[in-house]
Amino acid sequence: MNTIEKLVRNNVLEMSAYRSARDEITSEAKIFLDANENAFDWAYSRYPDPKQLELRQKIADWRKVNVSQIMLGNGSDEIIDLLIRAFCNPGKDHIRILDPSYGMYEVSAALNQVEIIKTDLTKDFDLDTEEICYSDNEKLFFICSPNNPTGNCFQDDEIAKILNRFPGMVIIDEAYIDFSSRKSWIKNIGKYDNLIILQTFSKFLAAANLRVGMCFGNETLIEILLKIKPPYNLSGIVQKLAITRLDQVEKIQTQITELITERDKLKYKLEQCSTITKIFPSEANFLLAKAENAEKLYNHLYNQGIIVRNRSKEKHCKNCLRISIGSPPENLAAIDAIQGFK
Ligand code: PMP
Repeated sequence: MNTIEKLVRNNVLEMSAYRSARDEITSEAKIFLDANENAFDWAYSRYPDPKQLELRQKIADWRKVNVSQIMLGNGSDEIIDLLIRAFCNPGKDHIRILDPSYGMYEVSAALNQVEIIKTDLTKDFDLDTEEICYSDNEKLFFICSPNNPTGNCFQDDEIAKILNRFPGMVIIDEAYIDFSSRKSWIKNIGKYDNLIILQTFSKFLAAANLRVGMCFGNETLIEILLKIKPPYNLSGIVQKLAITRLDQVEKIQTQITELITERDKLKYKLEQCSTITKIFPSEANFLLAKAENAEKLYNHLYNQGIIVRNRSKEKHCKNCLRISIGSPPENLAAIDAIQGFK
């Protein structure tokens, strides 16, 4: 048994995937009367490819991995849920998360009746792994880098220490990686058996509406996730649009350079605002800003139709607002409104 087979839940290891008649087709088929589709009329009457092979191949070429190392979800939120279900026995196993970090890890854990253990970040939102004592029932460790809502990345050597010591699977959520100057951990899939990487179409690729999340890992992991995912979790329309979106990566890359310039400008301007006391360094497409009074500033912006995220209740985030980098006119409007707040 390899590392993943030892860690995965027994029922998941032993179960069989749902199979359709189309899984068994080897020769050229002409007439499909196997799936109870309604073949009368239009282009979308047939089920889409459950293996999403064309899209996965396109992603494989882009990220320089094999198709067998990629699984796709209805957003990475779906993959987070599937990972918890694949590895954690309800009421018995635990997941470890950083605090503060992305909220869905905790929500999915609660839904699956899986207890969470929190590792607090330092006041500067750094990761100090020296003191952590892991227990055997810990199956997944979610590390979001660049982290949401703090915007910073964690050092590679700290993450490597976790990969070497953590008894379960380590998930590096790289939703915001393409806004940062860091290298993705994807190149290390072959080096660590317990490494899983999450990425998404929702941020760099500016395609949140499509709902496409990507999971990269070794072949055993991917086979298990493909086995347990809902067969048609990405519609055919979405698969097609995602493929065409990947043809625009070069253009998107230049837009990202502009977005980063906007981020730096916004940071500079916010630093001049008397009611903002600190802007945390960001390698993502948002800024975490500490205000004198976050709630009042939030309401002031809200009343002008500008919605930001109040993160004040998160660990070490008292009076902090998370502000996404918008288009240049949106950023100007936000700055104007913040400058008008006394
Ligand atoms: N991970 C992180 C860190 C996120 O911030 C988000 C969305 N805000 C997600 C995952 C979920 O992304 P998706 O749209 O692919 O479900």
